[in-house]
Amino acid sequence: MKVLFVAAEGAPFAKTGGLGDVIGALPKSLVKDGNEVAVILPYYNMIAAKFGDQMEDLGYFYTKLGWRWQYVGMKKTTHEGVDFYFVDNEQYFNRGAVYGEWDDGERFAYFQLAALEMMEKIDFVPDVLHVHDYHTGMIPFLLKEKYHWIKAYKDIKTVFTIHNIEFQGQFDSGMLGDLFGVGYERYEDGTLRWNNCLNWMKAAVLYADRVTTVSPSYAEEIKTPEFGKGLDQIMRMESGKLSGIVNGIDTDLLDPETDTHIPYHFSVKDLSGKAKDKAALQERVGLPVRKDVPLIGMVSRLTDQKGFDLVVNELHNILQHDVQVVLLGTGYGDYEHSFSWFGQAYPQKMSANITFNLELAQQIYAGCDIFLMPSAFEPCGLSQMMSMRYGTLPVVSEVGGLRDTVEPYNAVTGEGTGFSFGNFSGYWMVQTLEKALDLYEDDPKAWRKLQDNAMTRDFSWDTASLAYVDLYKQLV
Ligand code: ADP
Repeated sequence: MKVLFVAAEGAPFAKTGGLGDVIGALPKSLVKDGNEVAVILPYYNMIAAKFGDQMEDLGYFYTKLGWRWQYVGMKKTTHEGVDFYFVDNEQYFNRGAVYGEWDDGERFAYFQLAALEMMEKIDFVPDVLHVHDYHTGMIPFLLKEKYHWIKAYKDIKTVFTIHNIEFQGQFDSGMLGDLFGVGYERYEDGTLRWNNCLNWMKAAVLYADRVTTVSPSYAEEIKTPEFGKGLDQIMRMESGKLSGIVNGIDTDLLDPETDTHIPYHFSVKDLSGKAKDKAALQERVGLPVRKDVPLIGMVSRLTDQKGFDLVVNELHNILQHDVQVVLLGTGYGDYEHSFSWFGQAYPQKMSANITFNLELAQQIYAGCDIFLMPSAFEPCGLSQMMSMRYGTLPVVSEVGGLRDTVEPYNAVTGEGTGFSFGNFSGYWMVQTLEKALDLYEDDPKAWRKLQDNAMTRDFSWDTASLAYVDLYKQLV
Protein backbone atom coordinates (compact mmCIF):
# COMPACT_ATOMS: atom_id res chain seq x y z
CA MET A 1 0.00 0.00 0.00
CA LYS A 2 1.23 3.44 -0.93
CA VAL A 3 0.21 6.07 1.61
CA LEU A 4 0.93 9.77 1.65
CA PHE A 5 0.48 11.86 4.79
CA VAL A 6 0.04 15.60 4.52
CA ALA A 7 0.09 17.55 7.79
CA ALA A 8 1.09 20.84 9.35
CA GLU A 9 3.53 19.28 11.82
CA GLY A 10 5.47 16.07 12.36
CA ALA A 11 8.14 15.08 14.90
CA PRO A 12 11.09 15.32 14.99
CA PHE A 13 10.95 18.14 12.42
CA ALA A 14 8.18 20.30 13.89
CA LYS A 15 6.02 19.51 16.88
CA THR A 16 3.70 21.65 18.96
CA GLY A 17 1.53 18.85 20.34
CA GLY A 18 -0.06 15.46 19.77
CA LEU A 19 -0.48 15.90 16.00
CA GLY A 20 3.29 16.20 15.67
CA ASP A 21 3.78 13.01 17.68
CA VAL A 22 1.32 11.08 15.50
CA ILE A 23 2.87 12.22 12.21
CA GLY A 24 6.28 11.28 13.60
CA ALA A 25 5.28 7.80 14.67
CA LEU A 26 2.41 6.37 12.58
CA PRO A 27 4.21 6.51 9.18
CA LYS A 28 7.21 4.76 10.74
CA SER A 29 4.99 2.01 12.06
CA LEU A 30 3.24 1.62 8.68
CA VAL A 31 6.64 1.27 6.99
CA LYS A 32 7.53 -1.50 9.44
CA ASP A 33 4.38 -3.32 8.29
CA GLY A 34 5.68 -3.21 4.71
CA ASN A 35 3.83 -0.18 3.34
CA GLU A 36 5.39 2.55 1.25
CA VAL A 37 4.85 5.79 3.14
CA ALA A 38 5.80 9.42 2.58
CA VAL A 39 4.96 12.61 4.45
CA ILE A 40 4.66 16.20 3.20
CA LEU A 41 5.24 19.01 5.71
CA PRO A 42 5.86 22.75 5.47
CA TYR A 43 9.55 23.68 5.62
CA TYR A 44 9.47 25.93 8.70
CA ASN A 45 12.59 27.90 9.50
CA MET A 46 13.21 25.83 12.64
CA ILE A 47 13.41 22.74 10.40
CA ALA A 48 15.87 24.52 8.14
CA ALA A 49 17.98 25.49 11.17
CA LYS A 50 18.12 22.00 12.65
CA PHE A 51 17.88 19.65 9.68
CA GLY A 52 18.94 21.89 6.77
CA ASP A 53 22.18 20.06 6.08
CA GLN A 54 20.37 16.71 5.74
CA MET A 55 18.03 18.03 3.04
CA GLU A 56 18.18 17.03 -0.57
CA ASP A 57 17.06 19.77 -2.96
CA LEU A 58 14.50 18.51 -5.43
CA GLY A 59 14.07 21.73 -7.38
CA TYR A 60 11.05 23.99 -7.50
CA PHE A 61 7.90 24.89 -9.36
CA TYR A 62 5.26 27.58 -9.15
CA THR A 63 1.69 27.09 -8.00
CA LYS A 64 -1.17 29.42 -8.75
CA LEU A 65 -2.64 30.94 -5.63
CA GLY A 66 -5.73 32.69 -6.96
CA TRP A 67 -4.25 35.16 -9.41
CA ARG A 68 -0.63 34.94 -8.15
CA TRP A 69 2.12 32.52 -8.94
CA GLN A 70 3.90 31.34 -5.80
CA TYR A 71 7.24 29.63 -5.51
CA VAL A 72 7.29 26.03 -4.19
CA GLY A 73 10.71 24.69 -3.27
CA MET A 74 10.85 20.93 -2.75
CA LYS A 75 13.13 19.32 -0.19
CA LYS A 76 13.49 15.76 0.97
CA THR A 77 15.07 13.71 3.69
CA THR A 78 14.60 10.15 4.85
CA HIS A 79 14.02 9.56 8.53
CA GLU A 80 13.69 6.07 10.00
CA GLY A 81 12.54 4.58 6.72
CA VAL A 82 10.01 7.29 5.93
CA ASP A 83 10.52 9.81 3.12
CA PHE A 84 9.74 13.30 4.35
CA TYR A 85 9.12 15.91 1.67
CA PHE A 86 8.94 19.60 2.47
CA VAL A 87 7.24 22.57 0.87
CA ASP A 88 9.66 25.46 1.02
CA ASN A 89 8.50 29.05 0.79
CA GLU A 90 10.13 31.64 3.00
CA GLN A 91 7.27 34.09 2.78
CA TYR A 92 4.96 31.61 4.49
CA PHE A 93 7.15 29.42 6.63
CA ASN A 94 10.10 31.55 7.70
CA ARG A 95 8.15 32.83 10.71
CA GLY A 96 9.43 31.14 13.85
CA ALA A 97 6.00 29.74 14.67
CA VAL A 98 4.03 26.82 13.30
CA TYR A 99 0.59 28.37 13.87
CA GLY A 100 -1.01 31.49 15.20
CA GLU A 101 0.10 33.83 12.42
CA TRP A 102 -2.35 36.42 11.14
CA ASP A 103 -2.39 34.76 7.71
CA ASP A 104 -2.66 31.08 8.69
CA GLY A 105 -5.54 30.70 6.22
CA GLU A 106 -3.37 31.83 3.32
CA ARG A 107 -0.33 29.89 4.54
CA PHE A 108 -2.19 26.61 4.71
CA ALA A 109 -4.24 27.23 1.57
CA TYR A 110 -0.91 27.61 -0.23
CA PHE A 111 0.49 24.52 1.50
CA GLN A 112 -2.42 22.34 0.42
CA LEU A 113 -2.22 23.42 -3.22
CA ALA A 114 1.56 22.95 -3.20
CA ALA A 115 1.29 19.49 -1.62
CA LEU A 116 -1.31 18.32 -4.13
CA GLU A 117 0.71 19.52 -7.11
CA MET A 118 3.91 18.17 -5.62
CA MET A 119 2.70 14.55 -5.67
CA GLU A 120 3.26 14.38 -9.42
CA LYS A 121 6.61 16.16 -9.30
CA ILE A 122 8.06 13.86 -6.64
CA ASP A 123 6.45 10.90 -8.37
CA PHE A 124 4.60 9.79 -5.27
CA VAL A 125 0.97 9.35 -6.23
CA PRO A 126 -0.50 7.31 -3.37
CA ASP A 127 -3.32 4.81 -3.09
CA VAL A 128 -4.41 6.64 0.04
CA LEU A 129 -3.91 10.30 0.79
CA HIS A 130 -4.20 10.70 4.56
CA VAL A 131 -4.72 14.28 5.72
CA HIS A 132 -4.89 15.64 9.26
CA ASP A 133 -6.84 18.39 10.97
CA TYR A 134 -8.14 21.56 9.43
CA HIS A 135 -4.82 22.75 7.95
CA THR A 136 -5.11 20.05 5.30
CA GLY A 137 -8.90 19.73 5.36
CA MET A 138 -9.50 21.24 1.92
CA ILE A 139 -7.38 18.60 0.19
CA PRO A 140 -10.18 16.01 -0.32
CA PHE A 141 -12.37 18.78 -1.78
CA LEU A 142 -9.59 20.10 -4.02
CA LEU A 143 -8.77 16.61 -5.23
CA LYS A 144 -12.35 15.99 -6.27
CA GLU A 145 -13.34 19.42 -7.52
CA LYS A 146 -10.15 21.08 -8.75
CA TYR A 147 -7.62 18.41 -9.67
CA HIS A 148 -10.05 15.72 -10.88
CA TRP A 149 -8.78 16.18 -14.43
CA ILE A 150 -5.28 14.86 -13.54
CA LYS A 151 -5.46 11.28 -14.71
CA ALA A 152 -2.83 9.98 -12.29
CA TYR A 153 -4.89 11.28 -9.34
CA LYS A 154 -8.20 9.75 -10.25
CA ASP A 155 -7.98 6.62 -8.07
CA ILE A 156 -6.60 8.29 -4.96
CA LYS A 157 -8.74 7.68 -1.88
CA THR A 158 -8.72 10.16 0.98
CA VAL A 159 -8.79 9.72 4.74
CA PHE A 160 -9.23 12.70 7.05
CA THR A 161 -8.25 12.40 10.70
CA ILE A 162 -9.65 14.79 13.29
CA HIS A 163 -7.11 15.34 16.03
CA ASN A 164 -9.10 18.18 17.54
CA ILE A 165 -12.48 19.42 16.37
CA GLU A 166 -12.03 22.70 18.19
CA PHE A 167 -9.91 24.16 15.39
CA GLN A 168 -11.98 24.06 12.22
CA GLY A 169 -10.46 26.58 9.84
CA GLN A 170 -13.30 29.08 9.48
CA PHE A 171 -12.60 31.72 6.87
CA ASP A 172 -14.22 34.23 4.59
CA SER A 173 -15.64 32.60 1.47
CA GLY A 174 -13.65 34.99 -0.71
CA MET A 175 -10.72 32.69 -0.14
CA LEU A 176 -12.22 30.16 -2.58
CA GLY A 177 -11.55 32.40 -5.55
CA ASP A 178 -8.69 34.48 -4.15
CA LEU A 179 -6.54 31.61 -2.94
CA PHE A 180 -7.86 28.20 -3.98
CA GLY A 181 -8.77 29.36 -7.49
CA VAL A 182 -12.13 27.59 -7.54
CA GLY A 183 -15.68 28.81 -8.05
CA TYR A 184 -18.25 29.60 -5.36
CA GLU A 185 -20.85 26.98 -6.34
CA ARG A 186 -20.08 24.64 -3.44
CA TYR A 187 -20.22 27.52 -1.01
CA GLU A 188 -23.46 28.85 -2.37
CA ASP A 189 -25.15 25.43 -2.33
CA GLY A 190 -24.16 25.11 1.35
CA THR A 191 -21.62 22.27 1.05
CA LEU A 192 -18.61 24.28 2.19
CA ARG A 193 -20.57 26.78 4.25
CA TRP A 194 -21.13 26.63 7.98
CA ASN A 195 -22.34 29.57 10.05
CA ASN A 196 -21.81 31.81 7.04
CA CYS A 197 -18.13 30.97 6.83
CA LEU A 198 -16.08 28.69 4.70
CA ASN A 199 -15.35 25.78 7.07
CA TRP A 200 -12.37 23.60 6.09
CA MET A 201 -13.17 20.88 8.59
CA LYS A 202 -16.72 20.52 7.36
CA ALA A 203 -15.37 20.33 3.79
CA ALA A 204 -13.01 17.55 4.86
CA VAL A 205 -15.73 15.54 6.58
CA LEU A 206 -18.04 15.76 3.58
CA TYR A 207 -15.43 15.11 0.89
CA ALA A 208 -13.07 12.56 2.46
CA ASP A 209 -13.77 8.90 1.72
CA ARG A 210 -13.28 8.07 5.39
CA VAL A 211 -13.12 10.18 8.50
CA THR A 212 -11.35 9.01 11.61
CA THR A 213 -10.68 10.50 14.94
CA VAL A 214 -8.16 9.51 17.55
CA SER A 215 -10.25 7.46 19.97
CA PRO A 216 -13.56 5.57 19.81
CA SER A 217 -15.01 7.61 22.70
CA TYR A 218 -14.21 10.90 20.95
CA ALA A 219 -15.79 9.55 17.75
CA GLU A 220 -19.02 9.17 19.72
CA GLU A 221 -18.64 12.43 21.63
CA ILE A 222 -18.24 14.68 18.57
CA LYS A 223 -21.69 13.60 17.43
CA THR A 224 -23.14 15.42 20.45
CA PRO A 225 -23.68 19.17 20.92
CA GLU A 226 -21.56 19.06 24.08
CA PHE A 227 -18.37 18.04 22.26
CA GLY A 228 -19.07 18.67 18.56
CA LYS A 229 -18.05 22.37 18.67
CA GLY A 230 -20.92 23.21 16.37
CA LEU A 231 -20.23 20.44 13.86
CA ASP A 232 -22.07 17.66 15.71
CA GLN A 233 -24.89 17.69 13.19
CA ILE A 234 -22.42 17.08 10.33
CA MET A 235 -20.77 14.31 12.35
CA ARG A 236 -24.12 12.61 12.92
CA MET A 237 -24.96 12.97 9.24
CA GLU A 238 -21.65 11.42 8.18
CA SER A 239 -21.43 8.89 11.03
CA GLY A 240 -21.39 6.01 8.53
CA LYS A 241 -17.85 6.86 7.51
CA LEU A 242 -16.61 8.00 10.93
CA SER A 243 -14.59 5.77 13.24
CA GLY A 244 -12.16 6.15 16.14
CA ILE A 245 -8.68 4.64 16.38
CA VAL A 246 -6.68 5.26 19.54
CA ASN A 247 -3.24 6.75 18.94
CA GLY A 248 -0.15 4.96 20.09
CA ILE A 249 3.04 6.53 21.38
CA ASP A 250 6.53 6.08 20.06
CA THR A 251 7.62 3.33 22.44
CA ASP A 252 11.13 3.22 20.92
CA LEU A 253 11.78 6.81 21.87
CA LEU A 254 9.68 6.83 25.01
CA ASP A 255 11.37 4.02 26.84
CA PRO A 256 12.45 4.44 30.48
CA GLU A 257 15.24 1.93 29.81
CA THR A 258 16.87 3.99 27.06
CA ASP A 259 15.40 7.54 27.04
CA THR A 260 18.33 9.90 26.52
CA HIS A 261 16.48 12.82 28.13
CA ILE A 262 16.33 11.29 31.62
CA PRO A 263 19.33 11.05 33.93
CA TYR A 264 18.61 7.54 35.27
CA HIS A 265 17.11 4.57 33.50
CA PHE A 266 14.67 2.08 34.97
CA SER A 267 12.36 -0.74 34.04
CA VAL A 268 9.21 -2.34 35.36
CA LYS A 269 11.37 -4.89 37.18
CA ASP A 270 13.57 -2.35 38.88
CA LEU A 271 12.26 1.10 39.72
CA SER A 272 15.34 2.29 41.63
CA GLY A 273 16.28 4.58 38.70
CA LYS A 274 12.84 6.20 38.91
CA ALA A 275 13.50 7.23 42.51
CA LYS A 276 16.76 8.83 41.38
CA ASP A 277 14.94 10.58 38.53
CA LYS A 278 12.51 11.96 41.09
CA ALA A 279 15.32 13.42 43.18
CA ALA A 280 17.02 14.85 40.06
CA LEU A 281 13.74 16.42 38.95
CA GLN A 282 13.08 17.95 42.37
CA GLU A 283 16.52 19.43 42.32
CA ARG A 284 16.22 20.70 38.74
CA VAL A 285 12.89 22.47 39.31
CA GLY A 286 13.84 23.88 42.70
CA LEU A 287 11.71 21.74 45.00
CA PRO A 288 13.03 20.18 48.22
CA VAL A 289 14.54 16.79 47.47
CA ARG A 290 12.30 14.42 49.40
CA LYS A 291 11.72 10.78 48.65
CA ASP A 292 8.52 10.35 50.64
CA VAL A 293 6.44 13.26 49.29
CA PRO A 294 4.08 12.48 46.41
CA LEU A 295 5.16 14.45 43.34
CA ILE A 296 2.34 15.45 40.98
CA GLY A 297 3.25 16.40 37.40
CA MET A 298 1.50 18.25 34.58
CA VAL A 299 2.83 18.75 31.03
CA SER A 300 0.42 20.50 28.76
CA ARG A 301 -0.82 23.35 26.66
CA LEU A 302 -2.36 25.69 29.24
CA THR A 303 -5.85 25.99 27.77
CA ASP A 304 -9.44 25.47 28.88
CA GLN A 305 -9.50 22.16 27.00
CA LYS A 306 -7.05 20.69 29.46
CA GLY A 307 -9.22 21.49 32.51
CA PHE A 308 -6.91 24.11 33.97
CA ASP A 309 -9.84 26.12 35.31
CA LEU A 310 -10.45 23.24 37.72
CA VAL A 311 -6.78 23.02 38.62
CA VAL A 312 -6.41 26.76 39.28
CA ASN A 313 -9.59 26.81 41.38
CA GLU A 314 -8.50 23.85 43.50
CA LEU A 315 -4.76 24.37 43.70
CA HIS A 316 -4.89 26.07 47.11
CA ASN A 317 -6.74 23.03 48.47
CA ILE A 318 -4.41 20.56 46.82
CA LEU A 319 -1.34 22.35 48.16
CA GLN A 320 -2.63 22.02 51.73
CA HIS A 321 -1.64 18.36 51.51
CA ASP A 322 1.93 17.23 51.91
CA VAL A 323 2.53 17.15 48.15
CA GLN A 324 4.72 18.73 45.50
CA VAL A 325 3.45 19.88 42.12
CA VAL A 326 5.55 20.45 39.02
CA LEU A 327 3.94 22.05 36.00
CA LEU A 328 5.39 22.47 32.51
CA GLY A 329 3.36 24.32 29.93
CA THR A 330 2.61 27.39 27.89
CA GLY A 331 -0.67 28.80 26.72
CA TYR A 332 -3.32 31.26 27.88
CA GLY A 333 -1.82 34.20 29.75
CA ASP A 334 -4.27 33.86 32.65
CA TYR A 335 -3.14 30.33 33.37
CA GLU A 336 0.53 31.16 32.92
CA HIS A 337 0.20 33.99 35.44
CA SER A 338 -1.86 31.97 37.91
CA PHE A 339 0.60 29.11 37.99
CA SER A 340 3.58 31.45 38.25
CA TRP A 341 1.84 33.07 41.20
CA PHE A 342 1.30 29.70 42.90
CA GLY A 343 4.97 28.92 42.28
CA GLN A 344 5.92 32.06 44.18
CA ALA A 345 3.32 31.60 46.92
CA TYR A 346 4.29 27.97 47.61
CA PRO A 347 7.99 27.73 46.70
CA GLN A 348 8.44 24.55 48.75
CA LYS A 349 5.54 22.79 47.05
CA MET A 350 4.92 24.17 43.59
CA SER A 351 7.22 24.61 40.61
CA ALA A 352 5.75 26.38 37.57
CA ASN A 353 7.81 26.09 34.40
CA ILE A 354 6.20 28.29 31.78
CA THR A 355 8.13 27.13 28.77
CA PHE A 356 8.22 24.42 26.09
CA ASN A 357 10.96 21.94 26.84
CA LEU A 358 10.95 18.38 25.50
CA GLU A 359 13.69 17.24 27.84
CA LEU A 360 12.03 18.52 31.00
CA ALA A 361 8.77 16.94 29.80
CA GLN A 362 10.43 13.51 29.76
CA GLN A 363 11.95 14.14 33.18
CA ILE A 364 8.50 14.93 34.54
CA TYR A 365 6.96 11.77 33.03
CA ALA A 366 9.82 9.77 34.53
CA GLY A 367 10.32 11.45 37.89
CA CYS A 368 6.76 12.06 39.14
CA ASP A 369 4.46 9.74 41.04
CA ILE A 370 1.16 11.09 39.75
CA PHE A 371 0.26 12.81 36.47
CA LEU A 372 -2.74 15.13 36.56
CA MET A 373 -4.76 15.56 33.34
CA PRO A 374 -8.36 16.64 34.05
CA SER A 375 -9.31 17.55 30.46
CA ALA A 376 -12.71 19.01 29.65
CA PHE A 377 -12.44 17.16 26.35
CA GLU A 378 -9.62 15.04 25.02
CA PRO A 379 -9.61 13.59 21.49
CA CYS A 380 -6.96 11.06 22.49
CA GLY A 381 -4.28 12.55 24.68
CA LEU A 382 -0.75 11.23 24.63
CA SER A 383 0.61 12.57 27.89
CA GLN A 384 -1.38 10.11 30.01
CA MET A 385 0.06 7.21 27.98
CA MET A 386 3.57 8.61 28.27
CA SER A 387 3.24 8.94 32.03
CA MET A 388 1.91 5.38 32.38
CA ARG A 389 4.83 4.08 30.34
CA TYR A 390 7.14 5.65 32.94
CA GLY A 391 5.20 4.29 35.92
CA THR A 392 3.63 7.65 36.78
CA LEU A 393 -0.03 7.02 37.48
CA PRO A 394 -2.50 9.38 35.78
CA VAL A 395 -5.45 11.08 37.44
CA VAL A 396 -7.80 11.94 34.56
CA SER A 397 -11.33 12.95 33.68
CA GLU A 398 -13.35 10.28 31.89
CA VAL A 399 -13.56 11.84 28.44
CA GLY A 400 -12.47 10.82 24.95
CA GLY A 401 -9.16 9.06 24.75
CA LEU A 402 -8.57 9.37 28.49
CA ARG A 403 -11.54 7.10 29.05
CA ASP A 404 -10.20 4.69 26.39
CA THR A 405 -6.63 4.46 27.70
CA VAL A 406 -6.70 4.79 31.51
CA GLU A 407 -8.23 1.88 33.38
CA PRO A 408 -9.49 3.25 36.72
CA TYR A 409 -8.24 1.65 39.91
CA ASN A 410 -10.53 -1.00 41.27
CA ALA A 411 -9.95 -1.33 45.01
CA VAL A 412 -11.56 -4.79 45.09
CA THR A 413 -9.50 -6.48 42.38
CA GLY A 414 -6.43 -4.23 42.60
CA GLU A 415 -6.61 -3.80 38.83
CA GLY A 416 -6.21 -0.52 36.97
CA THR A 417 -3.59 1.80 35.52
CA GLY A 418 -4.68 5.11 37.08
CA PHE A 419 -7.57 7.06 38.58
CA SER A 420 -10.48 8.78 36.89
CA PHE A 421 -13.57 10.84 37.60
CA GLY A 422 -16.73 11.00 35.51
CA ASN A 423 -18.26 14.23 36.70
CA PHE A 424 -16.23 17.13 35.33
CA SER A 425 -15.91 19.27 38.43
CA GLY A 426 -13.20 20.50 40.77
CA TYR A 427 -14.81 18.61 43.63
CA TRP A 428 -14.51 15.24 41.89
CA MET A 429 -11.04 16.00 40.61
CA VAL A 430 -9.84 16.65 44.18
CA GLN A 431 -11.69 13.61 45.54
CA THR A 432 -9.99 11.42 42.97
CA LEU A 433 -6.59 12.96 43.49
CA GLU A 434 -6.98 12.41 47.25
CA LYS A 435 -7.88 8.79 46.61
CA ALA A 436 -4.64 8.44 44.65
CA LEU A 437 -2.64 10.20 47.38
CA ASP A 438 -4.13 7.92 50.05
CA LEU A 439 -3.22 4.81 48.12
CA TYR A 440 0.29 6.15 47.46
CA GLU A 441 0.84 6.77 51.15
CA ASP A 442 -1.03 3.84 52.70
CA ASP A 443 -0.54 0.93 50.35
CA PRO A 444 2.79 0.91 48.47
CA LYS A 445 2.17 -2.67 47.35
CA ALA A 446 -1.11 -1.79 45.64
CA TRP A 447 0.59 1.28 44.13
CA ARG A 448 3.41 -0.87 42.76
CA LYS A 449 0.86 -3.22 41.21
CA LEU A 450 -0.77 -0.30 39.40
CA GLN A 451 2.65 0.84 38.18
CA ASP A 452 3.28 -2.68 36.88
CA ASN A 453 -0.04 -2.67 35.06
CA ALA A 454 0.55 0.78 33.58
CA MET A 455 4.11 0.11 32.47
CA THR A 456 3.27 -3.17 30.78
CA ARG A 457 0.23 -1.90 28.84
CA ASP A 458 0.83 -1.93 25.11
CA PHE A 459 0.73 1.71 24.00
CA SER A 460 2.82 1.09 20.89
CA TRP A 461 1.65 2.06 17.43
CA ASP A 462 1.47 -1.59 16.34
CA THR A 463 -2.22 -1.99 17.15
CA ALA A 464 -3.23 1.43 15.84
CA SER A 465 -1.29 1.10 12.61
CA LEU A 466 -2.95 -2.26 11.89
CA ALA A 467 -6.31 -0.60 12.36
CA TYR A 468 -5.31 2.10 9.84
CA VAL A 469 -4.11 -0.53 7.35
CA ASP A 470 -7.49 -2.28 7.68
CA LEU A 471 -9.23 0.99 6.97
CA TYR A 472 -7.02 1.75 3.95
CA LYS A 473 -7.67 -1.76 2.60
CA GLN A 474 -11.41 -1.17 2.72
CA LEU A 475 -10.88 1.80 0.41
CA VAL A 476 -8.53 0.53 -2.29
P1 ADP B 1 -2.44 18.04 22.66
O1 ADP B 1 -2.04 17.47 21.33
O2 ADP B 1 -3.91 18.29 22.81
O3 ADP B 1 -1.64 19.25 23.05
P2 ADP B 1 -1.49 15.51 23.76
O4 ADP B 1 -1.52 14.93 25.14
O5 ADP B 1 -2.12 14.69 22.69
O6 ADP B 1 -2.11 16.97 23.82
O7 ADP B 1 0.03 15.75 23.32
C1 ADP B 1 0.80 16.74 23.90
C2 ADP B 1 2.26 16.49 23.51
O8 ADP B 1 2.96 17.73 23.61
C3 ADP B 1 2.95 15.52 24.45
O9 ADP B 1 4.00 14.89 23.74
C4 ADP B 1 3.51 16.46 25.52
O10 ADP B 1 4.61 15.89 26.20
C5 ADP B 1 3.94 17.63 24.65
N1 ADP B 1 3.96 18.92 25.37
C6 ADP B 1 2.90 19.70 25.72
N2 ADP B 1 3.32 20.83 26.34
C7 ADP B 1 4.67 20.75 26.40
C8 ADP B 1 5.70 21.62 26.92
N3 ADP B 1 5.42 22.78 27.50
N4 ADP B 1 6.99 21.20 26.79
C9 ADP B 1 7.28 20.03 26.20
N5 ADP B 1 6.36 19.18 25.68
C10 ADP B 1 5.08 19.53 25.77
